[in-house]
Amino acid sequence: MEFILPEELKEEPVEEDKLYDLIIMGADPAGMTAAVYAAWKKLDTLVISGNVGGQTLLATGVETYMGHQYITGQVLMRKFEEQLRQFPIPLLIGDEVAKLREDDNFFAVQTSKGKKFRGKAVIIASGRRARSLNVPGEKDLIGRGVSYCATCDAPLFDGMDVAVIGSGNPAITAVNDLTKYARKIREECGET
Ligand SMILES: Cc1cc2nc3c(=O)[nH]c(=O)nc-3n(C[C@H](O)[C@H](O)[C@H](O)COP(=O)(O)OP(=O)(O)OC[C@H]3O[C@@H](n4cnc5c(N)ncnc54)[C@H](O)[C@@H]3O)c2cc1C
Repeated sequence: MEFILPEELKEEPVEEDKLYDLIIMGADPAGMTAAVYAAWKKLDTLVISGNVGGQTLLATGVETYMGHQYITGQVLMRKFEEQLRQFPIPLLIGDEVAKLREDDNFFAVQTSKGKKFRGKAVIIASGRRARSLNVPGEKDLIGRGVSYCATCDAPLFDGMDVAVIGSGNPAITAVNDLTKYARKIREECGET
């Protein structure tokens, strides 16, 4: 999922042989916020990320971010990116950190495309990825009935019949969130 940036937001060059003050893994809400703070403190910062926006790109609507009664995840992330690009921060997007090694005085980073960087410090803001069931229709129905976050999406299932798939604390928490909204909840639990 990608969006087009306004042309006036320029790209900063990424330099492979340079020792950066800070390398941030992830251009998501956490990573972009960290990058803006780093720029504010005049740290020479590089951001490396698979995409810009992270999980929030999948959020059809965000209704819990103060200052926006309703905003789509994509628009919210575009606003984050626009704010980030006001600062001279190089972004390496479409690549990911594959190896991270601590050396004497710095961290050595290698990406999955073989690029190498050095940083005096590294912030890991790589978020998380939902473990999908890999069943037919799952991907097509994300945001249209399939959700990976009951806390975020429980109100969308008001009065509906819902199945929670999983086990342990996360499943119980999800059921707890959903009992306030769903008409009926069925829990499907595999092996723990
Ligand atoms: C469908 C959906 C709806 C949601 N709705 C809401 C909502 O309404 N309200 C709310 O508050 N929250 C909501 N959330 C949760 C919210 O999106 C997450 O809490 C938030 O995205 C977590 O942000 P993060 O910055 O920790 O990382 P993530 O968003 O998980 O992003 C991780 C980033 O790190 C990058 N990355 C991963 N591995 C590497 C690596 N090795 N090297 C470099 N980069 C890497 C990825 O490319 C990605 O950009 C929703 C989530 C989903 C999926």
